[in-house]
Amino acid sequence: MDEKYEGGCTCGEVRYRLLARPMFVHCCHCTWCQRETGSAFALNALLESENVEVTQGSPELVDTPSNSGTGQAIARCPKCRIALWSNYGGIGDFFRFLRVGTLDWPARFAPDIHIFTSTKQSWVAIPEGMRAVPEYYKSAEIWPKESLERREKVMARVKAAKAKA
Ligand SMILES: [Zn+2]
Ligand SMILES: [Zn+2]
Repeated sequence: MDEKYEGGCTCGEVRYRLLARPMFVHCCHCTWCQRETGSAFALNALLESENVEVTQGSPELVDTPSNSGTGQAIARCPKCRIALWSNYGGIGDFFRFLRVGTLDWPARFAPDIHIFTSTKQSWVAIPEGMRAVPEYYKSAEIWPKESLERREKVMARVKAAKAKA
């Protein structure tokens, strides 16, 4: 990756760097994301955990309920408590859903899909032709081949870790 993608919390204690472009970017309009962000939606970039490298500080993992019911660990700055990313699904730290707004240039990654539009706030207009689903979707049907291959590799490791446990 040629461009630098760095980000961090508000107080500057935790800094990170992306080592790859996101596999996919979600704009999530679910009511959980609305509550967690205090806004109308969340913008999450999905990456392998090893491609989100912490370069300074040490985020604290906070166990938090999630819409899916399987919970999430939210990585927060131990000082200012800003949320940087989440691990969903109770599978451990394999995938990170990075909060795009914590990047130094938060406009870098536009959404690939809008999800949970069934609870979208009515004043949010989704551009014509943009992918949007009322709730969730199947990655295999929508993601580009390269991203699916990256996802497969991580899923193999998730399986191996589960077999060991
Ligand atoms: Zn901080
Ligand atoms: Zn959501």
